[in-house]
Amino acid sequence: MSKTIIITGASRGIGKEMAKHLAKQGNRIIANYNKSEEKAKELQSELKKENIEIDIFKADVSKREECKKLVEYTIKKYKKIDVLINNAGISVWGPFTELTDEELHEIMNVNLYSAIAMTQETIKYMIKEQKGCIINISSIWGMVGASCEVAYSITKAGIDGLTKSLAKELGPSNIRVNSIAPGAIDTEMNADLTEEERKEIENETPLGKIGKTIDIAKTASWLIEDEFTTGQIISPNGGLTII
Ligand code: NAP
Repeated sequence: MSKTIIITGASRGIGKEMAKHLAKQGNRIIANYNKSEEKAKELQSELKKENIEIDIFKADVSKREECKKLVEYTIKKYKKIDVLINNAGISVWGPFTELTDEELHEIMNVNLYSAIAMTQETIKYMIKEQKGCIINISSIWGMVGASCEVAYSITKAGIDGLTKSLAKELGPSNIRVNSIAPGAIDTEMNADLTEEERKEIENETPLGKIGKTIDIAKTASWLIEDEFTTGQIISPNGGLTII
């Protein structure tokens, strides 16, 4: 492969797995993190043991200036960005009426504005190259809605809107834009689930299991190699959501 790939929120979970998987396939990875510096360093040294070098870069991608720094660092060092994966995300759980303004602004900024700002900062370079691939990590809840996760679902539906519209706008520049909308995946984001709740999800899922981070990494790898898919919401979810 050997592409230059920025992955936001790559210190843990799905982002980390994508960084590992894509680095092992021979790509240059710029793994962004915000709070989990130790974990980002662990990822870097874990790969170093296999003689694979990756860059790690601290940036709060909910802030425009920090997105700019991440993109400029990458351009300065590698001259181009082939792939941007907007993965950083948080969840907020609770009845809609009880969500505070602070919670609402935070989730909008981390889940949605970050993808908008990172994409704006990146595509000027992709347009110059007349090629590129953007992958937005959304969620099944953006497609079908989730009770007590209304704000989260709004941000993910917004991400899918970004994907569809930008795919149309950037297609003529040979830039593909797609969403990956995972079902339930085993990461820290789901650490609060009780054993009973996990069983419930497994029972509701036709494939009878919760997904693994590698399932999403493999989808990302396929989307990067593909040349004719754009504006799509690809949903590795074990059949939990079929629309
Ligand atoms: P996770 O394990 O909680 O990891 C979240 C990642 O996002 C961390 O690396 C975190 O970095 C980063 N992050 C959060 N705020 C950030 C910010 N302001 N700037 C930069 N990075 C930030 O979550 P995950 O399950 O891997 O989720 C990854 C993505 O998949 C999210 O967009 C999530 O909504 C989506 N998703 C997850 C599931 C699931 O079941 N797990 C299902 C559907 C969709 P730091 O710790 O360094 O701050």
